[in-house]
Amino acid sequence: MNGVLAMVLDRPGTPLRVAELPEPTPGPGQVRLHVRACAVCRTDLHIVDGELPEPKLPLVLGHQVVGEVMDGGTRFRPGQLVGVPWLGFTDQTCRYCRSGRENLCLHAQFTGYQRDGGYAELIVADEPYCFPIPAGFDDVAAAPLLCAGMIGFRSLRLAGDAERLGLYGFGASAHIIAQVARFQGRRVFAFTRTGDTAGQQFARELGAEWAGGSDERPPEELDAAIIFAPVGALVPAALRVLARGGVVVCAGIHMTDIPSFPYAWLWEERTIRSVANLTREDGAELLELAPKVPIRPVIEVLPLTKANEALRRLRAGELRGSAVLRVAG
Ligand SMILES: [Zn+2]
Ligand SMILES: [Zn+2]
Repeated sequence: MNGVLAMVLDRPGTPLRVAELPEPTPGPGQVRLHVRACAVCRTDLHIVDGELPEPKLPLVLGHQVVGEVMDGGTRFRPGQLVGVPWLGFTDQTCRYCRSGRENLCLHAQFTGYQRDGGYAELIVADEPYCFPIPAGFDDVAAAPLLCAGMIGFRSLRLAGDAERLGLYGFGASAHIIAQVARFQGRRVFAFTRTGDTAGQQFARELGAEWAGGSDERPPEELDAAIIFAPVGALVPAALRVLARGGVVVCAGIHMTDIPSFPYAWLWEERTIRSVANLTREDGAELLELAPKVPIRPVIEVLPLTKANEALRRLRAGELRGSAVLRVAG
């Protein structure tokens, strides 16, 4: 094969296709990487399912990319291990960028959505949005930090200084954020699908002091809840277990409709908010913290050509931790 091996989405609702693409060439300010690993995110599934509007098509998915620098750019040395996250470009001129909120940029472009991502042997990325991978993390272990970790970390920040933290949906993001939260001295309460005793056991192994179904009440009120599962009904469910002044943070990019609920459940200064994307500051802070915790992602490795299988297993809730596609190396 002379071209670049990639898994390509031709249109939503169809499986990814094994393809051979021409080599991408880095433009000004861009770096080209040999991809070594790319973690699978629920957002990838939302794009495949047509739940996010107007993806680039055909599209190479994947926004938790770790690769070795080939050429282009000036910030990294050849061979250096570098990560490419979801935030691929911002204009730095709109009102959001100018007020330190580049995650809300009006002209943002996202990796593996509006730009080709890491389900491929090669990727080009805008150098200022890439991250050096911290020492102590290999390609596979670092990949889930690039979105599950970084956007989870932003969600955790927006949960404020909550001591008693609920995590709804104990998957790729929650299993990383539970480790960070414990390191910060918080108490973790994990909620899984009803009857998912294996998921609850997994959460306890990672430091949750209580784990149960999302229809259960934890032994005490919580100060914040982060919802990682794309299920709107979890919003009122989480409100019902929050203490006064507590916050529900919706961490996903897509969620089913939120059912109506009595105002009394929100009363007493409870808050519901969403998290959109990440800033580079969020990413840099998480990567600085990662070796200190140390974050140890639990990973299932599949070859690149098994991307459809990885997505199927994510959809079915069969994954423990994070699925990572091994591309090379
Ligand atoms: Zn993601
Ligand atoms: Zn902007």
